Amino acid sequence: MIITKPAYFDSFRCIAAACPDSCCKEWDVQVDEGSAAYYRALPGPLGDRLRQVLRSEDGETVMTIVDGRCPMWRSDGLCRIQAELGEGALCHTCREFPRLTHDYGDFIERGLELSCPEAARIILSALPMPPVVEELPGGEGEYDGEAMAVLKATRETALGILAENRPMGQVLALLLLFGCQAQSELDGGEPQPFDPETALEGLEDFVKPGDLSAVVEIFNSLEILTPQWQQRLYAPASGELSQLCRPLARYLIERYWLQAVSDYDLYCRVKFIVVSCLLVSTLGGDFVSTAQLYSKEIENNTDNVEALLDAAYTHPALTDDKLLGLLLQIRS
Ligand code: SF4
Repeated sequence: MIITKPAYFDSFRCIAAACPDSCCKEWDVQVDEGSAAYYRALPGPLGDRLRQVLRSEDGETVMTIVDGRCPMWRSDGLCRIQAELGEGALCHTCREFPRLTHDYGDFIERGLELSCPEAARIILSALPMPPVVEELPGGEGEYDGEAMAVLKATRETALGILAENRPMGQVLALLLLFGCQAQSELDGGEPQPFDPETALEGLEDFVKPGDLSAVVEIFNSLEILTPQWQQRLYAPASGELSQLCRPLARYLIERYWLQAVSDYDLYCRVKFIVVSCLLVSTLGGDFVSTAQLYSKEIENNTDNVEALLDAAYTHPALTDDKLLGLLLQIRS
């Protein structure tokens, strides 16, 4: 079993009361069975409060949100369970957040979630570094080995594209073009070398003018959790691509590329990555805060992610020619 994690992974520390957007806001927290049983059996005022706010929903136990916040959140920004019983008493969700685990059987990839402001700061300020690798005995792969080998190799090339010294629009266009090539390799095509210059040649005959407001409109049609996000989508800043799209794209590639082993559909994920960078950058405001809000609204809502993966193929604003046109016409 190989376990990899980004070099920055262990530097994360929750900033609790100093957090500008606590994870104890807006989300219903799913409580694992063991913790739910422990909470329900607790004596005293904390146990009484927990019994009031835990509810069962579709076979799961959920902590009911009260006034937009977790009822265990104290006015000093600390968690009542943690303060009174210690970190070990937190449910699995709260103990792990914002740490991510992708378990493929014989290897595990860990990461941090962008929806936590402190994790977002760390992710988007990190320099590209080799991951930390640990080897443990045991583990058996639970995936198509051939497809995974293609995905691992193409992911390396995709990460290499991010290091290209070019305007950001070209970098994202190259990522999109390479995504198309990687998809055909995943479909059984021969591996081909990827030459950025050749890939960009003759593109002007293919691309069509893109429509940024139509792309923003796609996000407007999804489920929206917070008024801040709604506001951003109503009044996007004028389009410009930030250099911070590089660490954002790196994070998204590391998080989503290998997931194509589940359905052999890589290209819709590559489009999702490119469109996400485009959106975060062009919504304006502080890039890190916008990326964190984006993640909270999109990445943490499975329905929204699914809708975007579908839109990658079906929405007229996201056709290859228009998307490439948009990336190449936008200031960067
Ligand atoms: S969002 Fe992150 S920094 Fe903020 S309270 Fe949660 S874990 Fe801590």
